[in-house]
Amino acid sequence: MDAIIMLLPGDGIGPEVVAEARKVLAAVAERYGHTFAFHEGLMGGCAIDAAGAALPEETLAGCLAADAVLLGAVGGPQWSDPKAPVRPEQGLLQLRAAMGVYANLRPVRVLDALVDASPLRPERVRGVDVMIVRELTGGLYFGRPQGRETVNGERAAVDTLRYRESEIRRVVRVGFELARGRRGKVTSVDKANVLASSRLWREVTHEVAADYPDVVCEDVLVDACAMYLINRPADFDVIVTENMFGDILSDEASMITGSLGMLPSASLGDAPVDNGQGLAVGSQRSKTRPGLYEPIHGSAPDIAGRGIANPLATILSAAMLLRSSLGLAEEAAAVEAAVERVLADGCRTADIARPGEGAIGTVEMGERVAEVVSKQ
Ligand code: NAD
Repeated sequence: MDAIIMLLPGDGIGPEVVAEARKVLAAVAERYGHTFAFHEGLMGGCAIDAAGAALPEETLAGCLAADAVLLGAVGGPQWSDPKAPVRPEQGLLQLRAAMGVYANLRPVRVLDALVDASPLRPERVRGVDVMIVRELTGGLYFGRPQGRETVNGERAAVDTLRYRESEIRRVVRVGFELARGRRGKVTSVDKANVLASSRLWREVTHEVAADYPDVVCEDVLVDACAMYLINRPADFDVIVTENMFGDILSDEASMITGSLGMLPSASLGDAPVDNGQGLAVGSQRSKTRPGLYEPIHGSAPDIAGRGIANPLATILSAAMLLRSSLGLAEEAAAVEAAVERVLADGCRTADIARPGEGAIGTVEMGERVAEVVSKQ
């Protein structure tokens, strides 16, 4: 297939890890006979320095015209003055909104080779494979009214947790569709014993569940879910939840693996719909699904420029890109298998090496994975 992949290397270690993911994607193209055109744009602190905006118009246009977007990371101490008129993270929020990506997917898998990296006991984490689906564009972070006021002489503040049923339905559907291709179980997380928005969430989830009789659906309260993620994480398959609960639970779950440099993510919009005239609605370009892919870690300014960052989270994000935006499931699985293979062979970057174990650099790790992909 022909595809345009927009790369946003960003700041700090972003350019280092994106360069390695690009090598792996190029190896996929070569091995499987695809043509990927890589376009690059500025976003984040580097864009503020060069163009005065965190998401320059040119970058946004490039992202909307591409089949998928792969981001490194944005931010750093030089752009973190709270009084600055523009901040790197604003670019990310604008991009998510402009692309209409409302479902944030974070797979948390404990690979056999890295069981020891977890802060939890090996028998508890072995085999953990959870997909967290977080609603990304609604809820408490976007509801209005929001702000501060003075009430009877004292400071007060308000945030609003509002969901429309269509916002719930579309993200819950993403969870059920994913469960179908996995172990067939959805855990919907809410706080229905207290919150009206959660009661609506639960009601709509049960309506969606009726369309998926082959998928088991359970409701779990968010506080209980936080406990179960620690004491029985292997029981979860797909977790689907609203924005703030998902924000917190996905960070908690990511720590089960103990390695920030290993965890990918995808933010997806609506799958394209054929409108009957052979045209696809959902992406400006073609029949591909709009998606923004990025490692969950930040720009790691403490190690930027030293060639020691772990590129695997970005490489695994590229695998998600192949699967979810380009529909290339076999190629995605090949990249994931290559990552497992190099880890099984003992290759480690410094962040996942055990004390005394030798470590390889960012470039070598990327090249090893690309090499395995080429030879598969
Ligand atoms: P961070 O994720 O950048 O780093 C946390 C720690 O993990 C650091 O010690 C870092 O060296 C290490 N680390 C992170 N990724 C690594 C990798 N691939 N390989 C090896 N080690 C890795 O979080 P932070 O230090 O809190 O934030 C740094 C900057 O990144 C801030 O400006 C923050 O706003 C930004 N940030 C951006 C994003 C994003 O772009 N989506 C996400 C989180 C943080």
